[in-house]
Formats: sequence, C-alpha cells, structure tokens
Amino acid sequence: MSLIVQKYGGTSVGTPERIRNVARRILETQAEGHQVVAVVSAMAGVTNNLIKLADDVTGEGFPTEREMDVLLATGEQTTIALTAMALNSMGAKAVSLTGAQAGIQTDGVHTKARISNITPDGVHELLNEGNIVILAGFQGQTSDGRITTLGRGGSDLTAIAMAAAIDADLCQIFTDVDGVYTCDPRVVPSARKIEEISYDELLEMASSGSKVMQSRSVEFAKKFGVVFEVRSSLNNHPGTLVKEETMSMESIVIRGVSLERAQAKVTISGVKDVPGTASRIFGAVGQANLLVDMIVQNVSKTGITDISFTVHKDDVAKAEAALRPVMPDLGEGVTLEATDGIAKLSVVGIGMRSHSGVAAEMFKALSDSGINIEMISTSEIKVTVTVAEGDIDRAANVVHEAFGLGAA
Ligand code: ADP
Ligand code: ASP
Ligand code: MG
Repeated sequence: MSLIVQKYGGTSVGTPERIRNVARRILETQAEGHQVVAVVSAMAGVTNNLIKLADDVTGEGFPTEREMDVLLATGEQTTIALTAMALNSMGAKAVSLTGAQAGIQTDGVHTKARISNITPDGVHELLNEGNIVILAGFQGQTSDGRITTLGRGGSDLTAIAMAAAIDADLCQIFTDVDGVYTCDPRVVPSARKIEEISYDELLEMASSGSKVMQSRSVEFAKKFGVVFEVRSSLNNHPGTLVKEETMSMESIVIRGVSLERAQAKVTISGVKDVPGTASRIFGAVGQANLLVDMIVQNVSKTGITDISFTVHKDDVAKAEAALRPVMPDLGEGVTLEATDGIAKLSVVGIGMRSHSGVAAEMFKALSDSGINIEMISTSEIKVTVTVAEGDIDRAANVVHEAFGLGAA
C-alpha cells in the first residue's frame, strides 16, 4: 500500500458537480489500495470574492492582516467540509482537517506566512484508522494560535509540504490543464505540454508569472526532494513530472515562456550615487514585505543617478508609503514616480547555461514585431524584459514561435 497526496485546485472543486468528481477520483485512488490525503483549495472565485469583501468593508484603509487571514481561511474550510461530505455520501470514510488541525505551524507573516514545522501525527492516526484525510490548503497556524495563510496559490505548498512531512510515495497536483506547458495555453494556443521539467526551470517559470504552480511550493519541493506530477482533474492524460534535472533536460535550451501582467515600474530619480543608497531604498521596501523584481540603476555622470524597480501594481501604494520616510536621506530634489500598464515576459531554460545568443534572439523576435522593450534583466537560466501590457499576448506568441516551442 502506498501513501498518496493529491491536491485539487479551485477550478477542480468549483461546483458541487466538480466536488463530486473529485470525490470519485479520490475514492478510485483508495480503491486501488492506497492511503490518500487530499488537499483542496477554495472553490474557484471564492478567495477573490473574500478579498473584495474585505476591501469593501474597509473603504480607503487596508484590512488588518490578522483578520484577513481569518477571512481567507474560510474559503478552504468550506471545500474540505463539502468534499468530505460528498465522499461520506458515497459510502467512504472521510475526515476534514483545517491546516491547524493537521499540525501545520507557520511564522506570523500574515497573508504570506512560511511553514515552520509540521506535526503530522494526527494525520497518520486518521489514515491508519482507514480514513481519507481531506486537508484545507493555503492555511496554517502560528505557535500562539493565530490563523495564517500561505500566499496566493498556497494550496500547492500545503500539498508539497505535507507530502514531505508524511513521506508520501507520490504527490499529484490536479488542476484545470493537462500539465506544465511551454507557455500559458490560454495565451499561446500552440503551447505544448512538457513531459518532465527540473525544479529550477519550473521555479523560474513560476516566479516569473506561470501561475500553474505557486513558486514557493516548487522551492520547497526542490529543498526536500519532493518529486511531483502536475496533471488534469478532468481527464486521465499523463501530466508533467517535476524533479531534479537530468542530462537530457540540459540539451533543451529554452523550456518555456512566462508572462506576468499588472506590473508597475517605480523610479526614484535624482539619488546620490554613494554607498548605502540602494540599501536604504530596498531595506525600506523589504521591511514592508514587498516582492521587488527587476532592479535597474542608471550609470551616473554627475554623482546623481536613477533607480527603478518593478512591483505588482497593487503594491505601488505600499511601496510609496515605505519609501517616503527614507527619501530625504537619498539626496536633494529626489522624486518618486510610479507607472503601471506594464508586463513582464521571460524565457527560461537550464540549457541557457551552455548556450549563448538567447537574449539576442528574444530581442530580435520582439523588434521584428515592433514591440518595444523597456527593462531587461537576466539570470543564469532566464532572460526577462518588460513591455507595454497591451503588447504582452502578442509578445508571448512571437517569442514562443521564435524559439520553436509550439506544436509542430
Ligand atoms: P488551480 O486552481 O488548480 O491551482 P491555477 O489557476 O492556479 O489552478 O493554475 C492553472 C492555470 O495556470 C491554467 O489554467 C493556466 O491558464 C495557467 N498557466 C500559466 N502558465 C502556465 C503554463 N506554463 N502551463 C500550464 N498552465 C499555465
Ligand atoms: N484559495 C487560494 C488562492 O486562491 C489558495 C489556492 O487556491 O491555492 O490563492
Ligand atoms: Mg493554483
């Protein structure tokens, strides 16, 4: 008998009929002789609705983060109860558990908490008594009993972390596409499903906008060596296997293309080009727990320079609030400007380590299509540019095509 962790995302549990479909799939897995822990997300749209409700009741202010997590955790709590009920109505023995009940302990960073420890004794006990365990994704509890959530898409992390904690034989992430594609198939219709991908590649794709997996969950899987499969809950097609890189993976230069919309560029102009400037700026932004990407500093000719970075457009107000107090330390006449309406496009592949010319090819494909590049950044296995948000779908398609990633 093996121990299997399955995760079903929001669309897979989006309606009562879909929940019954998930229940049947879990039952089939158990009937094959396995113990099953099924992690479920909130029903599609529920988390977004809860965020909107919080905005509506707080008006101009920000919702308090402790209460935000109490609110957001209700989405998954609804689904665990409904899924367990559906299973029980089919004659199975299923028990629902919240993150706290399953022993998932986190730090206290509300709305993006990190898992600090998992005590899975209760889960093992329930499994050994013959139960199917239905576990709420995306949530945990601090050591002093506060409910926390793990960041958007965090049910993926719950599944991977629980698979590691209970030493599962298999971890399957069921979603609404057949696996990880060379680009979001909703944007690039010719995108192909990838059979195997390395942690590093998926991590770069996920952190540059391919939301098929939460990036922190891939990071966790890499750290603890959790091999997992991404596949569809709506058919039985084989999915994508995610694991440590192999020699054959390296022969592929570009694995995929990612895009991320709704970005904003924050520029601080007129700052003194002296040691400590960048540290003040990014210290302040980091303390506000904001995720900053693509940092660009201009060459200074007169001892004065500009520093730009990108953040999600919803984080602009927070970034401005964090930066205002340090502005006077940065020089006289320092100005802060934020522009939204930009998007990021990345190409990713571990083969890039041993191949040159990838950036040039990407820039050529964009320029041939008349798409202007604003900012550029590179890592060992990724090249990222920003373009106008209105150009992003076309940009993704031409770059995908230029690297020959599409279906033949
Ligand atoms: P779930 O609710 O199951 O967690 P998500 O909506 O978080 O599902 O992720 C699945 C979606 O990710 C797909 O519907 C697809 O549009 C999008 N996506 C983005 N990039 C990719 C990619 N490279 N491969 C597959 N899907 C992708
Ligand atoms: N319900 C949460 C979200 O929408 C977590 C998840 O679906 O993974 O972000
Ligand atoms: Mg998801």
